[in-house]
Amino acid sequence: MTTRITHLVAGSPWEGTSERTSEVFNPATGEVTGTLDLASAALVDEVVTGAKAAWRDSWASVSLARRTQVLFAFRQLLHENRERIAALITAEHGKVLSDALGEVTRGLEVAEFACGIPHLLKGGYSENASTDVDVYSLRQSLGVVAVVSPFNFPAMVPLWFVPVAVACGNAVVVKPSEKDPSATLAVAELWREAGLPDGIMNVVNGDKEAVDALLTHPDVKALSFVGSTPVARYVYETGTAHGKRVQALGGAKNHMLVLPDADLDLAADAAVNAGFGSAGERCMSISALVVVDTVADELVARITERMAALRTGDGTRGCDMGPLVTAAHRDKVTSYVESGAAEGAELVVDGRDAPVDADGDGFFLSPTLFDRVTPGMSVYDDEIFGPVLSVVRVASYDEGLALINANPYGNGTAIFTNDGGAARRFQHEVEVGMVGINVPVPVPVSYYSFGGWKNSLFGDSHAHGTEGVHFYTRGKVVTSRWLDPSHGGVDLGFPQNA
Ligand code: NAD
Repeated sequence: MTTRITHLVAGSPWEGTSERTSEVFNPATGEVTGTLDLASAALVDEVVTGAKAAWRDSWASVSLARRTQVLFAFRQLLHENRERIAALITAEHGKVLSDALGEVTRGLEVAEFACGIPHLLKGGYSENASTDVDVYSLRQSLGVVAVVSPFNFPAMVPLWFVPVAVACGNAVVVKPSEKDPSATLAVAELWREAGLPDGIMNVVNGDKEAVDALLTHPDVKALSFVGSTPVARYVYETGTAHGKRVQALGGAKNHMLVLPDADLDLAADAAVNAGFGSAGERCMSISALVVVDTVADELVARITERMAALRTGDGTRGCDMGPLVTAAHRDKVTSYVESGAAEGAELVVDGRDAPVDADGDGFFLSPTLFDRVTPGMSVYDDEIFGPVLSVVRVASYDEGLALINANPYGNGTAIFTNDGGAARRFQHEVEVGMVGINVPVPVPVSYYSFGGWKNSLFGDSHAHGTEGVHFYTRGKVVTSRWLDPSHGGVDLGFPQNA
C-alpha cells in the first residue's frame, strides 16, 4: 500500500489530479511507500498568485505582536510533534531516529530565534540629523519568497528559512526534495494551527519544472536554495537573471586537520561521528581527514577500532547508521569505493559486504575507510555524500592548510589540536565559512548565520541569524521634517545637513 503525497496549498492538501508523479521509498527496506504529485508550472503560478494575495491582504500589515504570537505557537507545536516528524524523516530518508530527532531540534532553534523578531526588526532613529530633520530606518517584507530544499535535512533545512521569512512578514512557497517530502509537509501543516493566515505557507512538490517555475515567476521576490553545487550555480544564475534575490547553498568537501599534539581519542571519536553520522549524507560531514604523518598510523588504528563496533541497519532499530537515500545514490557511492581502490588508495575498512540489521532490500553501504588518499583521486576530488572517509597524510600544518585552501569547496572544516596558537592561526587563515576547533561538525547556532564560501554558496547572504533577517527584508530610510516657522524658501542645491 502506498500513500498519496500531495501539495499544501493555502493550508490544505491540494485536491487536484496530478499529470506527473514520482515514487518515494523507505530506504531501509527498499519498498515504495508513497506516490508524490509533481507540480506543473501552471500549479506553481496558481500557488504563487494565491500567496501574493494573502501577503498583500493580511500578513504584510499584521502587527509584530500578533506575528510573534503565531511564532511562539508554531514553536510549541513543533516541539510537541518532534517525535512524529522524526519518524517521518527516518521512514523516507533512512537516518536513525536519534539523528532525525536531532535534526528537528536544530530546526526548532531557528523557530526560537524567529520569536525574537520585534527586536531583530528594530530600526535606527536619529533625531535632529539636520536642524529639525529626523532620519530613521525601517525593514519591510518582500512579498512571496521561495525555498527549495535538499533530501538530506527535510525538516531542518526548510526550518533554516521559513520561520525567519514568515517572521519578517513574507508569504512562503517551499519546494521540498522529491525523495523525502513528508517531514517538510508535516512541519508546514503546523503553521495553520499556530494561527498563520491561509496562503502564507504553501508547499509545492516537484522537480526541475517546479523549480524553474519559481525561478522565473515575477512575483517570487527571493529564493533560498540548498542542494548540490551544479544545481546551486544554475539556480543562482537563473534566479538573479530574473531579478530575484538568491542565496544558493551548494555542496561540500569538508576537511578535518589533526595536528600531532591533538588528543587522538577525541579526534578518533570525532572523525567517526562526523564521517559516518547520517551515513555521510550531511553537508557538514567530514569527508577528508588530513593528518600530520607522525600520528597518522595511530589515529587510523583508533578509528578502525571504533568502526568495528558500529552497527548499520534500519534506523528504527537503535542502529548507529542507516541506509543511503536511494538505490541509485548507494550505487554511486559504492562506485567511489571501487575507484578509490583502483586509483591506489589503501582500503582499510570495506563497507560493501558488512552485515546490516534490516529486513528487505534496503540501500545500505556500511562505513568505509581509505588511507593514503591524495588529490587527483576521485575519492578526494569529488563530493561523495556517503559513509566513505579518506585519510590524507601531510607533513605539516602548512601543507594541511594549503590543501584545504586549494579545495574548490569551503563549507565546513575543523582543526584538532591542543595548541591554542595553531588553532587561532587556522581560524584566521583557512578559507572556509564555518570552522570548528576540536568540534568536528561546526553548525552555527541559529542566532549566527549558516553558510560556506567558494563553491559552497552562491550569493552573499548566509542562512538564519541576522543575515537571514536582512535577506528577507528590504531596508528603507525616512528623512522627516514637520513644519515649523523656519520652513520655507526655494533652493535647488543638493541637500546639505546643518
Ligand atoms: P540536489 O541538488 O539534487 O537537489 C536539491 C533540490 O534541487 C531538490 O529540491 C531538487 O528537486 C532540486 N533540483 C535537482 N535538480 C534540479 C535541476 N536540474 N534544476 C532545478 N532544480 C533541481 O541535492 P540533493 O541530492 O537533494 O542534496 C544533497 C546535496 O545538497 C549535496 O551536494 C549537499 O552537500 C548539499 N547540501 C548543502 C548544504 C549546505 O548548507 N551547503 C546543506 C544540505 C545539503
